[in-house]
Amino acid sequence: MSFEAGRPAAPRTPARRADTMLSLSARAGRLAARQLHTTAAGRRAAGADEQPPPTPTEPIRRERAPPPEDPFQRAARIFSDDMRFLWEGKKSRTFFPSHCDVCIIGGGIMGSAIAFWLKLRAGPGVQVVVVERDSTYRTASTPLSVGGLRQQFSLPENIQMSMFSAQFLRNADRFLTVEGDEPPAIQFHPHGYLMCASPEKAELLEQNYRTQMENGAKMELMTPARLQERFPWINTDGVALACHGQENEGWFDPHALLSAFRRKAIQLGAEFVEGEAAGFESRYVPNMQSMGKQSVAGGNYVLDRAVIRLKNGDVKTVKAAIFVASAGANTAQVARLAGIGEGEGLLATPVPVEPRKRYVYFYHSPDGPGLDCPLLIDPSGAYFRREGHGGHYIGGKSPTGTADDPEPSADNLDVDYDYFQSHVWHHLAHRVHSFENLKVKSAWAGYYDYNTLDQNAIIGPHPHHHNLFMATGFSGHGIQQAPAVGRAITEHILDGEYRTIDLTRMGFERVLANQPLYEQNIV
Ligand SMILES: Cc1cc2nc3c(=O)[nH]c(=O)nc-3n(C[C@H](O)[C@H](O)[C@H](O)COP(=O)(O)OP(=O)(O)OC[C@H]3O[C@@H](n4cnc5c(N)ncnc54)[C@H](O)[C@@H]3O)c2cc1C
Repeated sequence: MSFEAGRPAAPRTPARRADTMLSLSARAGRLAARQLHTTAAGRRAAGADEQPPPTPTEPIRRERAPPPEDPFQRAARIFSDDMRFLWEGKKSRTFFPSHCDVCIIGGGIMGSAIAFWLKLRAGPGVQVVVVERDSTYRTASTPLSVGGLRQQFSLPENIQMSMFSAQFLRNADRFLTVEGDEPPAIQFHPHGYLMCASPEKAELLEQNYRTQMENGAKMELMTPARLQERFPWINTDGVALACHGQENEGWFDPHALLSAFRRKAIQLGAEFVEGEAAGFESRYVPNMQSMGKQSVAGGNYVLDRAVIRLKNGDVKTVKAAIFVASAGANTAQVARLAGIGEGEGLLATPVPVEPRKRYVYFYHSPDGPGLDCPLLIDPSGAYFRREGHGGHYIGGKSPTGTADDPEPSADNLDVDYDYFQSHVWHHLAHRVHSFENLKVKSAWAGYYDYNTLDQNAIIGPHPHHHNLFMATGFSGHGIQQAPAVGRAITEHILDGEYRTIDLTRMGFERVLANQPLYEQNIV
């Protein structure tokens, strides 16, 4: 193995890379109605302000969010803003929406997919605003991902989500083409995944294979002899059993999918604004206890506005009926702005998601496997796949977190090139002998939105803040789940329940109960 002289520093991938009321039918909608009808004036009329709100727990970190603005002051502020705009002739001033029905925080693949599905289903009846702090997505997980799609999971929910995504990608032209534009070039390569198991893990692989088949996936279980016959370039040493996806598995261009979701959502009417969610403002709802299932101890405050810091330092607020936190590896911090992990009771438990740095190495091996090459996962956890043609590949390995393979610091996205030599290369070269002479040409690093509880997604409304939905913690398999997650969150918001794939088990409740829902197949 060798490195190209003057290791290229630049990663490859980035370059390719309301008071309107929402007529919602179910419980999210009922909550929304109560929120939106409780304006400052409405509160006064209802005598709400005369009742001192009981505050056993103070859910909102009010020091981070300004108090609700007096309507007259607000009108005066908007008027003076407008006058300043006219006076200064800043015709390029960015429009900033003051209200919407659904405010999505984080416009990566999750936020964009959710915006797309909401607008596709609800049309102009639902105003959607997506707040994204960095429209270049320079450090977002989405464009830095490997773009793999597989059904080889241990949990039915994950299998079903990926199966839907494969179907969606195959029909991406129909779903995502923006009128007047070329169809999006998602570049789905359906070459399958090949998971190789050691003797110790063979039983688990077989068990997972059965679950996958029961859920409609098409897999072939392979003995070492069959593996050798099918892929002659593999060294089967140390492999007791392998599983190969026969269809609906492979990889695609993650940046192209993000761009396609975002563009289509915008065409359907979603508004994307650039700014960072820096706090929430809440509102006291006096009759929360009469809201049936939604009544929770201390739950008399509801999230009312997101406080957004713009790039020029201005601070704006967006009023919304429903908020979605889809801020990738930063979602725990966004949730913290709403008091999650800072309060008592249901607010005591933080979102267990943190950034974990993962390296991807781009290398050349002229004699490596050709076109008939799936995304291979070695028993060691090392993986690779083809990157185009001409002997180029990308690969890597997640650290085991042990003393000799610790988690790297997530303070920055610097690449450790030595990690490839010390922890990755020998596994790849053992599995594919022609990789002995590979040459690393470049590399990049990205953040997994890593769920420390069970390496699995957290999807759905928060048990305290019923108007705050979450979609996070995908721990390395989020890109492929985005089409299904976008649809699922939309179902929950518009229908009040999951209508297609039941993702109830993936809710935050399991975090509160400290009952992990482990996904065994983490790469
Ligand atoms: C190296 C690597 C390889 C991967 N390989 C695969 C793979 O093969 N298959 C797969 O399915 N998945 C893979 N993943 C995982 C996948 O990339 C993620 O799960 C997925 O991209 C998460 O999408 P997201 O929209 O939640 O997060 P992101 O893409 O990170 O988007 C979140 C957005 O929120 C914004 N944001 C954060 N805080 C705020 C705030 N306060 N206000 C406003 N905006 C904010 C960020 O700027 C960001 O753009 C990989 C990840 C990495 C790092």
